[in-house]
Amino acid sequence: MTMILSGMSDMRQMRENVKTFESRRPLNAILSVTEGMKDSVPCTGCRYCTDHCPMGLDIPLMMNTCSELRFAPVINVAMRLENLPAEKQPSACIGCGACARMCPRRIDIPGVMAELNERLSKIPKWADICRQREKAAKKA
Ligand code: SF4
Ligand code: SF4
Repeated sequence: MTMILSGMSDMRQMRENVKTFESRRPLNAILSVTEGMKDSVPCTGCRYCTDHCPMGLDIPLMMNTCSELRFAPVINVAMRLENLPAEKQPSACIGCGACARMCPRRIDIPGVMAELNERLSKIPKWADICRQREKAAKKA
């Protein structure tokens, strides 16, 4: 994002504004963010669903993580869930659908959970990477 100074009072401000309009990058960045948003899970974080989950999962966190992984399947997004105990991982979802019945956005939460598990299975775990690095360092 960039700032455009509406009242230019010196040469420096004028140069900054001209530079902004010379480059199409800011517009491209906005377009790529809005493209990504079209694909995101429409969770508002209202948490109406969470009290109804028999597994006590942090559903909004999972919905947002899945959204971000759709946009950028990278380790640092997946890492957010890595330290959760096994019983709070998205893989602990039993697909009962109790959450989805409470969701005002009608999100197919069990479906998104399954998608999230699938996406996470394709991303290396940070803990595994650290172990491999440690091993390599010991060998060297
Ligand atoms: S479908 Fe999964 S996330 Fe939803 S209430 Fe059941 S266990 Fe919890
Ligand atoms: S009820 Fe729906 S919109 Fe609200 S936090 Fe749960 S998944 Fe998100």
